[in-house]
Amino acid sequence: MRRKIAAGNWKMNGLTASLTELDTLAARFPKPGCDVLICPPATLIAPAKARAGSIAIGGQDCHTGVSGAHTGDVSAEMLADIGASHVIVGHSERRDDHGESSELIEAKAEAAWRAGLTAVICIGESLAQREAGETLDVLTEQLAQSTPDGATAANTVIAYEPVWAIGTGKVPTLAQIGEVHDALRGQLEARFGAEGTGIRLLYGGSVKPSNAAEIFAVSNVDGALVGGASLKADDFGGIISALEAA
Ligand code: PEP
Repeated sequence: MRRKIAAGNWKMNGLTASLTELDTLAARFPKPGCDVLICPPATLIAPAKARAGSIAIGGQDCHTGVSGAHTGDVSAEMLADIGASHVIVGHSERRDDHGESSELIEAKAEAAWRAGLTAVICIGESLAQREAGETLDVLTEQLAQSTPDGATAANTVIAYEPVWAIGTGKVPTLAQIGEVHDALRGQLEARFGAEGTGIRLLYGGSVKPSNAAEIFAVSNVDGALVGGASLKADDFGGIISALEAA
């Protein structure tokens, strides 16, 4: 049995006052029936960790190196040092805004492991790729190239996030989500054997309390990576409750 994960990505949102949302969540879910992860901006990781209770805290990106002359970057070791247990790598906003390649994402995932963090590796097709019928080919390549050898159920989580569904309110059909997740599971098992069976597969893209339950009922969906709806405790709480019930 794979333990499910509700993961929230706050992106570049949140000042210290926003941590009251985390307080509300921590009070509502002292012992959640699934893993709960919040990835706030790097500036809030340490204070978030101090008041997160059973909720895990993660970073949104890391550099491949341990330290050095990389102005503005944060290493995986730095994230671990202030209480992070996870780090998102390869979010489509990093791939698009910063030109990050799958090869770089793979190196970032290895950096995460080096620091003892779980890597949440994101992959996803663009609208043009979906409309051209290239979805499974694109995802197969992204998954293969972004995931290092040595991925295990403990050190890696995969998030399937169609780029066109992120922050748009558009969601693939349940059949489309199922087709992708089944294909990704097959690919993980073919490459990693039993560990591939254990690696959690999250869906991400406009997940809300109102659509969470039906998405969580899709085969091989082990939870969600949530952007906008993770910013408010009420909304994210609804998604966590739907996952606990799934
Ligand atoms: C995301 O940024 O990972 C995401 C899925 O965003 P949203 O839930 O807002 O679509």
